[in-house]
Amino acid sequence: MIPIRGTTRVLGVFGDPVEHTLSPSMHNRALAHLGLDYVYVPFHVRPPHLREAVRGVRALGITGVNVTIPHKVAMLEHLDALDPGARLSGAVNTVHNQDGRLVGYNTDGPGFVRSLQEEAGVDPAGKRFVIVGAGGAARAIAVQLALSGAAHIAIVNRTVKNAEVLLEVVRQAVAEAAHVGGDQLGTHAQVVEWADAKGLAQVFAEGRVVINTTSVGMAPKSDVPSVVPPELLHPGQLVCDIVYVPQETSLLKAAKARGCQVLEGLGMLAYQGAIAFEYFTGQVAPVELMRQTLAEALAARTQ
Ligand code: NAP
Repeated sequence: MIPIRGTTRVLGVFGDPVEHTLSPSMHNRALAHLGLDYVYVPFHVRPPHLREAVRGVRALGITGVNVTIPHKVAMLEHLDALDPGARLSGAVNTVHNQDGRLVGYNTDGPGFVRSLQEEAGVDPAGKRFVIVGAGGAARAIAVQLALSGAAHIAIVNRTVKNAEVLLEVVRQAVAEAAHVGGDQLGTHAQVVEWADAKGLAQVFAEGRVVINTTSVGMAPKSDVPSVVPPELLHPGQLVCDIVYVPQETSLLKAAKARGCQVLEGLGMLAYQGAIAFEYFTGQVAPVELMRQTLAEALAARTQ
């Protein structure tokens, strides 16, 4: 039991639905581990109530909230400031209440990059990437890769129009990185269509890292083959899947069989939570414990 006192500060997650969120287990265990006087609770916020819920954060002095489906985009207009990742990707997953000033962050992209660095030992600077998919998670990841100085990002998506929208987002991030960083030479980005066999073969051959950001392979439809044909992958390449249920997706199984290094999506989930935790509490997050808590909670669900 977490002791609730007069001094206990409140954190939470806004979502609709919110019953299946893993965030309270992950954050409360980390808070208890560090002996911090906070409690993290789920808030079921329906879309018409988002404005009032945000007013509640200010009125009640809630220290911070994570934001999940369907509020990540709608939350933007209710905040006082946004970090570059949230502004450029057009989505917020973390709101920190800084003495009444609500600041929005997107920790999904930084969470992916931290997982890439810490768990796969790959620094994105100067590397070539292939991103499969062009939804919300792809945006957050592509923006952070551009801000981290990736050399090249090839975007491949079922709906080409969505890939082109993402390309524009990346170009804005590149322009910003060049403006702020000065020494950033800029990420070159392009869209490659699935029908363009020659273009695909080239970007996959040159890509140091391949990232599946589509929901294909996610439980309960985990038996379907990956959208990435295994013959496009080559030994030594790092293949990441941000889908985390199951932890080893059909893409990762196929990639391992091709001799690739693989990175599971659970790390991104743990690191995005860890970065939010650090904004909320100002303390270094116990990431391993958070990852373990997620893995245990997911395993309990499948029993
Ligand atoms: P989203 O915005 O709905 O985007 C979905 C993407 O998947 C789009 O590019 C879509 O292509 C593609 N797609 C869906 N069904 C497809 C199919 N049958 N064939 C080919 N492409 C298909 O979703 P999201 O929020 O980005 O999330 C995507 C996945 O990432 C989910 O499984 C989610 O659980 C996971 N995720 C993981 C983390 C983590 O921390 N590990 C964080 C965020 C999300 P079109 O553009 O053609 O529709």
